[in-house]
Amino acid sequence: MRGSLEKAIPAPCQRHPTVMAGWSCDNCQATLCPDCVAVRRSLATEYLSCGLCQGRVLPILVHRSRSPLAERLWGIWRYPFTLSGLAVLLGLSFLLMVLRWAAESTFLLLKFLPTVIGLGVFWGAFFHIIRSTARGERELDTPDYSEFFSDCVRPALRGLVGTSLLWGPGLLYLLFIKRWDVSKPMNELLSSPAFYITGGLPELDWSQVVGDPILWLIVLAGAAWLPGVLLIAAAEQSVLTMLNPLAVVATVRRLGRDYTRTLAALAGLTVALLLGRLVAAGIHWLDLPLLSRWAAELVTCIAPFLMARVLGLLLYSRGDELGYGSPSEYLEPILGDTRPRVEAPPLRVEPVVPAEPPTAAPPALTDTLSALVQAVEAQDAGKALPLYAELREPRSLKQVESAHHLFVGQAAAAQGQYALAVKALETAADVEPDGPSASRALVLLARVYAERMKDPERAQSIYRYVVHRYPNTDASRFALAHLSPTS
Ligand SMILES: [Zn+2]
Ligand SMILES: [Zn+2]
Repeated sequence: MRGSLEKAIPAPCQRHPTVMAGWSCDNCQATLCPDCVAVRRSLATEYLSCGLCQGRVLPILVHRSRSPLAERLWGIWRYPFTLSGLAVLLGLSFLLMVLRWAAESTFLLLKFLPTVIGLGVFWGAFFHIIRSTARGERELDTPDYSEFFSDCVRPALRGLVGTSLLWGPGLLYLLFIKRWDVSKPMNELLSSPAFYITGGLPELDWSQVVGDPILWLIVLAGAAWLPGVLLIAAAEQSVLTMLNPLAVVATVRRLGRDYTRTLAALAGLTVALLLGRLVAAGIHWLDLPLLSRWAAELVTCIAPFLMARVLGLLLYSRGDELGYGSPSEYLEPILGDTRPRVEAPPLRVEPVVPAEPPTAAPPALTDTLSALVQAVEAQDAGKALPLYAELREPRSLKQVESAHHLFVGQAAAAQGQYALAVKALETAADVEPDGPSASRALVLLARVYAERMKDPERAQSIYRYVVHRYPNTDASRFALAHLSPTS
């Protein structure tokens, strides 16, 4: 989003000195409040214009970190409790329940697969929440598991490497420094024939070590370290960087107090996690068929997903300092979601035409339209483009099918007639927004802006629109792949 950076200090509206301005005029330089900016709509696009001079208006942008992190963290408990969030939670916990059941009730060697998939589903969702929160999404939505390796195996690996720092050092300390003797329970486990069929864990004697203060210090240090590692993992850095202590220290130092605040929030959620486990145990005890397992899995999921939300919010407001996304993506409008309150009449006023049958259109226009249809059906771009350029009235454009606009848009883009391409592609999406051509036309429109007209910001805003308007389509997947990570 482009905006006037030099005015990134709160300023009052020029006409209303007691109201904070959210926009500034490119033309008369006035600072403007929501009452002094007009919204104009033309086809699928929206323009803001200055209430004083009708000039182009840009939002006044400030860095996201201007809103204190603590304020953002207060609202997190609402995150999973939306309609879509609950649906995702229900779906994921059902999947995890099935995988856990499969892992428990199969033989030793077969346990491997459901366990890996289960970990992949969980950690895939965890990193998905961090990243979608860092993009500014407000609701929990469905993670994408379309690619087994990158959506399941990789997150699982990263999650395991990250959390191994929580228990790994403590375990090494117990085994090699404290010389905790686990040979007896291990031998017992390995000599039991049942282990080779159903698997199992050794019955360790924790009473020997649980009171050791050094062990607890090591675990606490690991817990304070872990969020730094998970942030590095979420920011798509390599596993080696995750394990590099210098990288983690640098991350923690850059984030300063916000890291401490994050730790406090995560500590609170750890308590919630333990409570969740207690509740889950209670639900298990009720032993309702299917329901008990499902509900227990759901209750256990909530705290970890809120933890991911916390990490995502930290990345959302300070990620540029960790090299995540480009600095300009961390600017947001100073007034947040506040919209201008003035609706201006549309730029293209449709002439008021008395009801008349379509055949009454001027003969020249009907000729052009039918010639255009013929040219498009013959795939003759050379004929179709000039005919299309003759159609100037929105009324006549509306008589052309969406697919024909799309054909013209594609042909015009290929021939370097970008203004014509933009017009045709916008209209293709506009005449039939729910038709099959609309999302394809918009993706093509974004590509024309990005690749030919060098306007990446416009392209990004169209991609965002496609992702929200046409979810789960090829177009939205393409758009998602072309959105920068933080936009
Ligand atoms: Zn102005
Ligand atoms: Zn004003």
